Amino acid sequence: MWIIHEQVILPKDNLIKRRWVGSSRCCFCDHDETIQHLFIECPLTKLLWRTIHIAFNINPPIDNESLSGTWLVGV
Ligand SMILES: [Zn+2]
Repeated sequence: MWIIHEQVILPKDNLIKRRWVGSSRCCFCDHDETIQHLFIECPLTKLLWRTIHIAFNINPPIDNESLSGTWLVGV
């Protein structure tokens, strides 16, 4: 969660900023890969969040801030 909050994880957009050469697209859906995309917006991630919601009755986070901050408050 700290890694997400501080945005030090290396999705492809951050790798490209560090002169990485390769596609900036998500391997799962071909959208531009960012932290927001990987943890919130990707269809595969949304499926995972839905599964967690059904299995544990925990609502999915609405954005990266809530994921790394208040998401599990009260659970
Ligand atoms: Zn994706």
